[in-house]
Amino acid sequence: MAAANDPILIVGGGLGALTTALALARRGRRSRVLEGAPEFGAIGYGIQFGPNVFPVLDRIGVTDAVMAKADCPPALLMRDALTGDVLVRIPTGASFRERFNHPYIIVHRIDLHHALLDACKRTGEIELVADALVTGFTDSGGGVAATTADGRSFSGAALVAADGLRSFIRSQLVGDGEPRPIGYVAYRTIVPMTDLAADVPRQEVVLWGGPGFHVVHYPLRHGALFNIVAVFRTLTHGQKGDVASYRTELQQTYRDAHPAMRDLIAMMDFGWRGQVCDRDPVRHWHKGRVVLIGDAAHAPLQSLAQGACMAIEDGLCLAELIHAEGDDFATAFRRFEAARIVRTARVQLESRALWEFYHAEGLARNVRNQTTAAWDEEHMYRCLAWLYDGFPLPTEREQPPHRSRVTGKA
Ligand SMILES: Cc1cc2nc3c(=O)[nH]c(=O)nc-3n(C[C@H](O)[C@H](O)[C@H](O)COP(=O)(O)OP(=O)(O)OC[C@H]3O[C@@H](n4cnc5c(N)ncnc54)[C@H](O)[C@@H]3O)c2cc1C
Repeated sequence: MAAANDPILIVGGGLGALTTALALARRGRRSRVLEGAPEFGAIGYGIQFGPNVFPVLDRIGVTDAVMAKADCPPALLMRDALTGDVLVRIPTGASFRERFNHPYIIVHRIDLHHALLDACKRTGEIELVADALVTGFTDSGGGVAATTADGRSFSGAALVAADGLRSFIRSQLVGDGEPRPIGYVAYRTIVPMTDLAADVPRQEVVLWGGPGFHVVHYPLRHGALFNIVAVFRTLTHGQKGDVASYRTELQQTYRDAHPAMRDLIAMMDFGWRGQVCDRDPVRHWHKGRVVLIGDAAHAPLQSLAQGACMAIEDGLCLAELIHAEGDDFATAFRRFEAARIVRTARVQLESRALWEFYHAEGLARNVRNQTTAAWDEEHMYRCLAWLYDGFPLPTEREQPPHRSRVTGKA
């Protein structure tokens, strides 16, 4: 039987896990974070955060540390990958901040991770255990235990699975197999800004959408670095090759792209190649004292740039409900699902729709380009409001509606 002060076990050491640990610590609750990798950390590329994530960062006390490392781009641009025409421009300066109360940021994942890890180390409530790959767990009804590949065992009051897209805990709880590949691969590269040999905007977040391929780029670390992501459809998406075959395939895919885009492609290294996958939305993320969050629960495609934002929103929501329900985990987890399922499923489904929109071909591309011509700032802000306005924390339901969102917007 678990005692009231038993730690909560958190499996995974990503952004969802660390946010949950910090949000629990804020409520005086101890946690034990089990990360499978030899060290806590992130892969060295960029990440975008919408304004919806800031109320959570504020509450877990890391906004200043994150903002010290982040940049606020003046706009998000979508360009046609063949002609270079700007199809959509979403200003993310003063009018955006005024509308959504918080900025849009781009930041190096390593810097972001450090900001959260440093905050975790400062509290006395979080035990960080690296090299702890969880390979089994039990739920006795009165508590949980997780076992690791090297034979260690950790006990706790409940288990939060934040173990990502290929979650082991999900395979046991939901049993719906591997993530869904969509036939695309992604390459990520970072170059020093001084080496950037392409005539492209250097401050904005730019997405070039083409038939079956796209590129996203933006600056990092106050303009010192330039982050490039190239994504395309290929029959080899599930295979491994060598650098020469990757390079040939990339050049072949982007042969009709705008010259500036081809210059970007020429700068790609092949150190990181990922098969693009997501998950189908499901209605249940918990069983007994075990619950899934973040990508383990609802991994989306990256088209809305919101997977990590959702994991972070989950972390605060779950910790608040565990606190509010006083360790009645069944009720806390049911309320967590009720609070989060429709919002995260919408992110999953809208990300799929946006994916098609980015990659429109033939006549569909003409329709896309004509449709976007009528989209102005007001239209774009209205389309994004459901996402960027944040979500109502279920523990604040009793407050009047105009004050009830985590955005804190009056
Ligand atoms: C190309 C690309 C670009 C993206 N851009 C953005 C963006 O701009 N904005 C955004 O919000 N999202 C973006 N995302 C999505 C985002 O990266 C994920 O949604 C987010 O990292 C999910 O966080 P998480 O904490 O749930 O899982 P993860 O970050 O995947 O963390 C899971 C952790 O669990 C550990 N782990 C796994 N299995 C075990 C185990 N059995 N035992 C112990 N530990 C384990 C892993 O080592 C890892 O540290 C992007 C994704 C991709 C692929």
